[in-house]
Amino acid sequence: MMTAVTADSVLDRFRERGALLEGHFRLTSGLHSSGYLQCALVLQHPRDAEACGKAIASYAGTLGVQVVLSPALGGIVIGQEVGRALGVRAIFAERQDGGLTLRRGFSLDRGEKVLVVEDVVTTGGSTTETIDVARAAGAEVLAAAAIIDRSGGERRIDVPFHALASVALPTYTPETCPLCASGLPVVKPGSRNGKP
Ligand SMILES: [Zn+2]
Repeated sequence: MMTAVTADSVLDRFRERGALLEGHFRLTSGLHSSGYLQCALVLQHPRDAEACGKAIASYAGTLGVQVVLSPALGGIVIGQEVGRALGVRAIFAERQDGGLTLRRGFSLDRGEKVLVVEDVVTTGGSTTETIDVARAAGAEVLAAAAIIDRSGGERRIDVPFHALASVALPTYTPETCPLCASGLPVVKPGSRNGKP
């Protein structure tokens, strides 16, 4: 990416990679939105993933983080990069029987200092669940971070939180979609290989 990572430079790179599209989209949920965000389209480029990881690590560098914990699948790649930049372990929690849990022999020590890292925070729900996994193991969650905050300020996370950039991407039911009402054709994201 670039040495000084600003919110604008992050969003510019997302647009260049086709990972942030603006227009009128039908999401897989069936809802419509004026924007489409797919972090994987940025993170597939290792140098971009590394730059995002370094930027999050520079935020967290003075906290004394001992381990990075991410929710699978979305948080794994960025969590690995943050761990690499901080020089600490990076582990992930994954869903089993509805709840997030540590598998594969991953564990946290009592009192171990954790940074929770995700790619995108929408409601904060999966970050909060991941924080709970760490606390249930007796670890101490120092902070949480993400590449993109798309919560529009609605997130509820009870530790200090930092995102590299924020975007507002409101969603609508087709019946109430103002873009439909204005006659703009709706597009399914990914139908053009993510390229605008
Ligand atoms: Zn619409």
